[in-house]
Amino acid sequence: MKIGSPERPLFVAIVGSGPSGFYAAEALLKTKDLSVRVDMFDRLPTPYGLVRGGVAPDHQKIKSVTIVYEKVAANPAFRFFGNVKLGRDIQVEDLTKRYDQLVYAVGNESDRRLGVPGEDLQGNHSATAFVGWYNGHPDWRAQSFDLSQESVAVIGIGNVAMDVTRILAEDPERLKGTDIAGYALEALRKSKVKTIWLLGRRGPAQAAFSPAEIQEIGSLESADLVVVGSETSVGPESQKDYADPENKKNADYVGLKAKAGEGSRPKKVRLRFCVSPSEVIGKDGKVAALKLEKNKLTADAAGSVKASGSGQFETIPVGLVFRSVGYRGIPIAGVPFDDKAGKIPNQNGRVQGAPAQYVVGWAKRGPSGLIGTNRADSVATVKAMLEDAAAGKFGAGAVDADEKSVPALLQSRSVRFVTFADWKRLDAIEIEAGKAKGKIREKFTTIPEMLGALDPNKGPVSV
Ligand code: NAP
Repeated sequence: MKIGSPERPLFVAIVGSGPSGFYAAEALLKTKDLSVRVDMFDRLPTPYGLVRGGVAPDHQKIKSVTIVYEKVAANPAFRFFGNVKLGRDIQVEDLTKRYDQLVYAVGNESDRRLGVPGEDLQGNHSATAFVGWYNGHPDWRAQSFDLSQESVAVIGIGNVAMDVTRILAEDPERLKGTDIAGYALEALRKSKVKTIWLLGRRGPAQAAFSPAEIQEIGSLESADLVVVGSETSVGPESQKDYADPENKKNADYVGLKAKAGEGSRPKKVRLRFCVSPSEVIGKDGKVAALKLEKNKLTADAAGSVKASGSGQFETIPVGLVFRSVGYRGIPIAGVPFDDKAGKIPNQNGRVQGAPAQYVVGWAKRGPSGLIGTNRADSVATVKAMLEDAAAGKFGAGAVDADEKSVPALLQSRSVRFVTFADWKRLDAIEIEAGKAKGKIREKFTTIPEMLGALDPNKGPVSV
């Protein structure tokens, strides 16, 4: 029987239910003349990965992309197994025995460090932690941030740094109708943060933020975006970068902002260029200041611009530091991992050394790109999967094609897996709870709360 025929559909497991996972499922389910069954696993009971746990609560339009994912999930050939963690509840071997192909869509769950003295002081946080906290991600629910500090620093000037800065600088009353976690809204209402230092190691023509993101910060009613004029000039080494329209928009915009001066709004976002933190300075075990080294920029033969220290230092007083210098993956038992690059080693999505295993999204290419970037990326991996399937290139052993096999295995291990219908129940409860407070939704922020809402009487799991 040909695999991929109506008599014997192709069985695919996708691990991870963020955008890259859903786009892979969509591409598979839309393939003409292919019979396929897709099972998607997620360690959380809730789907959508970074769309739920990463995208900022004041960016609801971006979150509306879940409408597309709901359509994918409505396909009868698709099943969701939430609250199932690979490496804990189910192993790679369990999957390779039951699926023809495996797709890792596990994202980047950790973050890069700066590697400077003082990084372990209390008050030094990753942007990942702060983003997860205000978004009600169960991993970060228990975190706390000392928002009684008046001056804080955000290191890195990518779009994650923009999100962190905006949430700190925004008037909390403008967030109250969103899906921000209730506890985070309360903490932000009490926040004393007045100055946010936003620190870029290279110049305005190399800034990683998008024009729309920096302009959103520059348009806040609650804060002035203050830029040092002398740091906005674009030198000869940066002309190649400046020729890029997005970079030009960024550099021109911050140049204009520098001319606007200090402004009169209650909070200040102090954007600096060509500075690198060289030490987080502590007092009584807590962050008290940040030592910065001024950088000079040089371009190599290809025009790529690098920052290097100039030997000139300054110290700024800050009580909290958020490093926002990029994400990295974490290894999963039984899955190849390139520790240096922080991702799953692959060639065009084919995992190296693991036949019939594939990778999509940030786990494949590293932490770059917008949500939409993942669609073409997942389609490319699916193309490789279908080429391999057509050539009969599968894993070594026979596959147990019984669709009851996985639910039965999970039940035998007492894993309370969450189906898509279960998620829709949680979704409805969250929306209802939000209505009572004038919010889009009030999220569940712990796994026991979610499971408790699904099984008030601990009834049996229906498949
Ligand atoms: P990113 O865009 O790669 O930005 C990382 C920033 O950290 C850069 O400014 C980088 O500077 C800096 N950096 C790296 N190492 C550093 C070091 N040792 N010292 C000082 N600075 C350092 O990453 P991201 O902000 O985490 O975003 C990840 C992806 O998600 C991006 O593609 C982003 O556009 C996307 N995203 C989009 C949105 C949105 O559209 N609203 C929101 C969030 C995230 P260099 O440039 O000098 O390396």
